[in-house]
Amino acid sequence: MTVSSAVSGQVFLKPKRAQPFYARHPWVFAGAVDRIEGEPADGTVVDVRSHVGNFIARGLINSQSKIQVRLYSWDEKVELDREFFRARLQRALRLRHDMLKLNNGPDAAYRIVFSEADTLSGMVVDRYGGWLTVQFTSLAMAARREMFGELLTELLGCKGVYLRTEKGIGKLEGVTLQDGLLCGEAPPPEVVIHENGLRFAVNLTEGQKTGYYLDQRDNRAAVAKFCRGKRVLDAFSYSGGFGVYAAAAGAAEVECVDASDPALALVARNAELNNLSQIVAVKSDIFHYLDAQVAAKRQFDVVILDPPKFARDRASIPQAMRGYRQLVQQGLKLLAPDGVLVKCCCSGLITMDMLEEVVAQTALDDKRDLQLLSRTGPAADHPVSVTCREGAYLKCLVGRAA
Ligand code: SAH
Repeated sequence: MTVSSAVSGQVFLKPKRAQPFYARHPWVFAGAVDRIEGEPADGTVVDVRSHVGNFIARGLINSQSKIQVRLYSWDEKVELDREFFRARLQRALRLRHDMLKLNNGPDAAYRIVFSEADTLSGMVVDRYGGWLTVQFTSLAMAARREMFGELLTELLGCKGVYLRTEKGIGKLEGVTLQDGLLCGEAPPPEVVIHENGLRFAVNLTEGQKTGYYLDQRDNRAAVAKFCRGKRVLDAFSYSGGFGVYAAAAGAAEVECVDASDPALALVARNAELNNLSQIVAVKSDIFHYLDAQVAAKRQFDVVILDPPKFARDRASIPQAMRGYRQLVQQGLKLLAPDGVLVKCCCSGLITMDMLEEVVAQTALDDKRDLQLLSRTGPAADHPVSVTCREGAYLKCLVGRAA
């Protein structure tokens, strides 16, 4: 199916609602729309205009989504056609290949496209060796999936492109998508990737997220520096990203804890792939596990807390903050003097300031001096657009406790 690039409708904004779109925010919510001229089908190209009819931007419409129009160009002369999207993909590739100089070999793994951050709202593409995974978070981009599969294959020479769907997206966007091969060859059950000289097994079709947490690459390398000869707790380990880096950096003991059996099987596999014998994989709920270790008066030199997203909407922020506080409280109790606490948070609704406040307040309550050594985000293949800072989701705080 090819989707036309012809402009099929005109979306007029309410008076006083145009400013964010002149400022290049890419999401036009239904509440800002006054009226629509023409009868644009969902997924087609529309122009967004001020209430007096001035052109603001060109985008793709979906009447079933809270985000009625996603904007892609602020130039009236530009068509949202195949060439346009090819150029956007090429721009995204230039960042990863020419500027970041990420491993681009046959076992490379990195994020190729990160939605709004790469001015391709509604699409995320990850590369694992010869295969790509694509996630669509908008109906209009999903409707162009064949074109994107072709373009990505052409630009990257990959063996296959696999579609992964995010839970809940069907309801948010009114699109029915199923995991499955988009084009080329199906990926094998295990693709082994190289990251900073370490090997990781990735299951593209069944693994969490799109198979691996690529965003933590730099944070893992930074934390590994503190791990030589140390006792390390990697809580919420998934496939052992932090733990494998720690062990490879010479940690004395590493405990990777997760509640998921497939994750723990990957921890064992990754320990084996890197010839690391000091990693123990433990199945447990982290909250129970931390309580039990505190009760047993155990101590670690490095405690890594990398939980899943706790805050999915504004209403769940207070509960999420209580969850983070509890983790930090118990994590601090387990830290030996001079210990390093790594606190990550991937809830976009929780800001770095909020996270710092939880960590600071908890350390104060515990009368424990804590120095922040770094406050970082994800690796640079997960950039943030200055006009859509909602994309800044991952934070990582590293502190040293007295
Ligand atoms: N640190 C990992 C990514 C962690 S993702 C990395 O670097 O790759 C979050 C992980 O937390 C998932 O593997 C999920 O299975 C696990 N998880 C979620 N809730 C949990 C809980 N209450 N107890 C233990 N593990 C949990």
